[in-house]
Amino acid sequence: MSSSAGLVVFTLIVSWVFAGAAAAAALESAGRPRRSLLRALGDGSDDLPDVALELNGSDFDAVLRQSPARFAVVEFFAHWCPACRNYKPHYEKVARLFNGANAVHPGIVVMTRVDCAHKMNSKLCDRFSVDHYPRLLWGHPRKFASGAWSPKQEQNDILPIDDGQTAEHEKFENENTLPHNASDPEQVARAIYDIEEATAGAFDIILEHKMIKPDTEAPFIKFLQLISAHHPSKRCRRGSAEILVNFDDVWPLDSLSTSAKDMDSPHDMSMLKNFQICGKEVPRGYWIFCHGSKKDTRGFSCGLWVLIHSLSVRVRDEESYLAFNTICDFIHNFFVCEECRRHFYKMCSSVTTPFNTTRDLALWFWSTHNRVNDRLMKTEKALGTGDPKFPKMRWPPKQLCPSCYRSPGRINNGTLLVDWNKDEVFSFLVRYYGKTLVSSYKDENRSSGGNGVSVSDDVATSTNAVAVPVGAALGIALASCAFGALACFWRAQQKNRKQRKRTDLHP
Ligand SMILES: Cc1cc2nc3c(=O)[nH]c(=O)nc-3n(C[C@H](O)[C@H](O)[C@H](O)COP(=O)(O)OP(=O)(O)OC[C@H]3O[C@@H](n4cnc5c(N)ncnc54)[C@H](O)[C@@H]3O)c2cc1C
Repeated sequence: MSSSAGLVVFTLIVSWVFAGAAAAAALESAGRPRRSLLRALGDGSDDLPDVALELNGSDFDAVLRQSPARFAVVEFFAHWCPACRNYKPHYEKVARLFNGANAVHPGIVVMTRVDCAHKMNSKLCDRFSVDHYPRLLWGHPRKFASGAWSPKQEQNDILPIDDGQTAEHEKFENENTLPHNASDPEQVARAIYDIEEATAGAFDIILEHKMIKPDTEAPFIKFLQLISAHHPSKRCRRGSAEILVNFDDVWPLDSLSTSAKDMDSPHDMSMLKNFQICGKEVPRGYWIFCHGSKKDTRGFSCGLWVLIHSLSVRVRDEESYLAFNTICDFIHNFFVCEECRRHFYKMCSSVTTPFNTTRDLALWFWSTHNRVNDRLMKTEKALGTGDPKFPKMRWPPKQLCPSCYRSPGRINNGTLLVDWNKDEVFSFLVRYYGKTLVSSYKDENRSSGGNGVSVSDDVATSTNAVAVPVGAALGIALASCAFGALACFWRAQQKNRKQRKRTDLHP
C-alpha cells in the first residue's frame, strides 16, 4: 500500500476511534468496518513483543468488564490456522497504537485475542458463534463481558469486522533459483502419524464447533466413507468405520425431522464424542513430519494436505470424481480457516470436466497445492510469518524428484517456470504418498501381532476388511474397501431408514 493511501486509512481509523460512537456508527452505516483498515498500517513484521491481550475462558469476562477503554476488538483465532498467522502482524501493528507501554492512543481501544483451538476456550468461542478463523468482533468492552454474538441477531451492540480477506495476495515472484532445501524422501514415512493427528484434530474441531447440521451431515458421512476405505492408517480406517456404522444410533436425527437447533443438543454431541476416530492413542498432541521450527507454524494444515494427497493416490480410477467432490465438500464445510476454505473451494468449483482416473485426481491436488504454495510464498516472505526452515516452494524440488523436471526450471520475470514431466510426477506421488508414507507405520492397537509390530504391508494398500461389528452388507462393502460401493450402500440404507420413518409416522 502506498504511504498516502496508508495515511488515509490511518486517519480513518484514528478519527473513527477519536470521534467515538458517532463516527463509528457512520462508518458502520457506510458498510461493515473492514479488516483492511486493520491491515493498512503496514505489515508489522518487526520483532516487537505482542501487545494484543490474549484472553481465555476464565479471564475474558472479568478483564473486559473492568476495562476503561471505549471499544474492544476481539480476534477469535486458532493457533494452527495459517491465515490467522499471516493476519497477526497486521493486528499487532494496530494493537500497538492502543495497547502497551508505548501506545500512541492508550485506553481508547483494547485489542484482544482468544485462541479457540484451546479446549478451555470452547464455550467462550461458542458464545460468540465463532464458525471460522479469524473472526473479528468489536463493541463496548462491557457488552462483551457476559455478552454473546450471533450472525442471526439483527440488533446487537457487538459488531463483526469482516471483509472475508485476511491477507493481501500478490502474484508470486520467486527471486531464488530452484529451491534447495529438498527433503529426504524417507522422511514422509513419519507423516503417517501426523495424518492420524490431523484426522483426529479435524474430528475434534467438527464436534467442538457443532458443525454437523442437516446441510453438512451428507458431506461428513461421505468423508467418513472415503477415509474408512482409503485412509492410509488402519487405526483411522477402523475408527471412521466404527463411527459410520454407529452413526444412526449416536446421531439419530436426520434431515427429514431435525432442526439445526436440535442438532446442537449437547446430548447428541457427547455421544459422538465417545468415538475416537483414530483410536484411543490419537491425538498425541505433537507433530513429527509437520513439526514447525517456529511456534504455531505447520502442524494441522500440513497434516491435512498430506492426508488429501495420500487419499488421492489410493482411490480407484472409477472413484476419482466422487473422491474429488468428497474432499472439496469436506474442506468447504469443515475447514475453519476461512481464507483457506474459500480459496480452495473456488479452485474446486473451477473443475468442470469429471476426473476419470486416479492420475488426474492426484495431479489436480498436486498442482492445486502448488498454486497455494505460490500464493503463500510471497505473503509469508513479506510478513515474516512462514517457517524459515520450510519455505514454500514449487514441489517436489528437483532434489526429491529429478525426473519430474523435463528441463531445469527457468526464471521468467521473477517467476519460476517448470516444465513438469507429469507422468514422472504421478509416479513419484504414488511412491511418496503410497508405499513410502506407510513404510514404517506401527499400529500398537492391532488385535494380533503384539505391540509395535510393523504392519506396513497391511496399510500399503487399503484392501483389508476393517474389524468392526457390522451388518453383513456393510461388512461386504467395507471389506471390498470400495468407496463407491460404500457410498451406494449408505444411500440405500438411508433411503430405507427414511421410508421406515415415514411408515412409522403414518402407518
Ligand atoms: C486445503 C488447504 C487450503 C489452504 N489454503 C490456504 C490459504 O488460502 N491461505 C493460507 O495462508 N494457508 C492455506 N493453507 C495452509 C497452507 O497451505 C500450509 O498448509 C501451511 O502454511 C503450512 O505449510 P507447510 O510448510 O507445513 O507445508 P504445506 O503446504 O502444508 O505442505 C505439507 C507438505 O506437503 C508436501 N507438499 C508441498 N507441496 C506439495 C504439492 N504441491 N503436492 C504434494 N505435496 C506437497 C511437502 O512435503 C510439505 O511439507 C491451506 C491448507 C489446506 C489443507
